[in-house]
Amino acid sequence: MSLFPVVEPFSPAAAQEAARDLVPRIAARAQHYDASGAFPSEDFVDLRARSLLGLMVPAELGGFGASFADYAAFAAELAGGAGSTALIFNMHASVTGALAHTPEELLRELGAPESCFAARDRLLAAAAGGALYAVAMSERGTGSRLSRTATTFRRCDGGYRISGSKAFVSGAGHADAYLVTARDVDAVEPKVSYFVVPTGDGIRVEPTWDSMGMRATGSHDVHFEVSVGADALLGGIEGITLLVAQVMPQWLVASYAAVYVGVARSALRVGGMHLHERGLHTLPTVRSRMGRADAAVAAADAVVREAARRVSERPGEPETNRWVWRAKLVAGDTAASVASSVLEAAGASATRRGHPLERIYRDARCGALQPATSDVCADWLGVAVLGGDPDDESESPRW
Ligand SMILES: Cc1cc2nc3c(=O)[nH]c(=O)nc-3n(C[C@H](O)[C@H](O)[C@H](O)COP(=O)(O)OP(=O)(O)OC[C@H]3O[C@@H](n4cnc5c(N)ncnc54)[C@H](O)[C@@H]3O)c2cc1C
Repeated sequence: MSLFPVVEPFSPAAAQEAARDLVPRIAARAQHYDASGAFPSEDFVDLRARSLLGLMVPAELGGFGASFADYAAFAAELAGGAGSTALIFNMHASVTGALAHTPEELLRELGAPESCFAARDRLLAAAAGGALYAVAMSERGTGSRLSRTATTFRRCDGGYRISGSKAFVSGAGHADAYLVTARDVDAVEPKVSYFVVPTGDGIRVEPTWDSMGMRATGSHDVHFEVSVGADALLGGIEGITLLVAQVMPQWLVASYAAVYVGVARSALRVGGMHLHERGLHTLPTVRSRMGRADAAVAAADAVVREAARRVSERPGEPETNRWVWRAKLVAGDTAASVASSVLEAAGASATRRGHPLERIYRDARCGALQPATSDVCADWLGVAVLGGDPDDESESPRW
């Protein structure tokens, strides 16, 4: 008999229900993990116990078989409990979702060897069994700009040697494997590839994370000086990162969007409780701030849902991708403005350390800063609306 309350049946709706049940527990711990800046271990014990790390894994490999739209609904729910936990989960879902949803025909057309499908299935089955994946893409000095990746790989002994340092790695030190971006050390043009590097020797976590918001993501620096087998190369194809960013922007651009809608919604919920507790809810100025915030959150939620629906139904189409960029822009900006306005309605007492609104305000501020930043999204959309090709038309590379 299982010791854990495993979610049965393994359907996306059941996963959503499980997330909803977990939110009060996660919310109750959020202050502690924010203050300590520690990885939210208990939240991940709960998620693992319900097999939810397998959300994006196809049913035949033991997962919930979630679509991108299912993911967006799940992430927004989770973020209502704790933004950091949802953000770590987002990184894991980006890896497993991209693995599960990249069409096999596309990979074959690009020259993927048959062995890459077995490697993919092993990673997905492990996630269904509780393995957690982190994303190690950003670097100090260059951020998430793939074209400027300094981490290198070289071919050796039937595999690869990866050398370099990453920054902002959410879940660092707690992941079972890292999705690492690295460029071919011998190529003249930056040829950046994805590798899945299992935790072990050659990986060193440097505890550098002490940031304003999303503190419990523990997004420390991670140093790689590690050899991996040939099957660590994602898709078995070198140099595909930029192509994936353009063809499937949803995981790189829009998956955070749902997290920040959830964070914005939690500002409304927590703000409302505070206003009632202090008897401020009858003040007209306070009410109108809450009314505007409610409308803004509902609008952002609708944009994110629309983008997610289109990704699930018509992935890769130009209009779908336009919604993806809209979703990231609207969600990031809305979270910051809503949290700010609700905090103002709540008053200075809600800015005390330890007040949940103070944490949510700081967490919400991160949405516009995560790639693609709101400014980059707005520029991408501006080029598109003016009739240009936003992926290729810019003075500096988009990624
Ligand atoms: C809470 C949190 C968790 C994170 N978790 C992860 C993670 O798990 N894994 C990971 O790899 N990264 C992660 N990141 C890092 C994130 O993905 C960014 O890469 C990082 O924030 C970039 O930092 P930067 O300071 O170099 O700023 P940049 O993003 O480089 O931005 C600096 C400025 O340059 C502008 N800019 C950036 N790119 C362009 C462009 N192409 N064209 C025009 N202008 C541009 C921006 O708008 C901004 O004004 C996380 C970040 C945060 C805040």
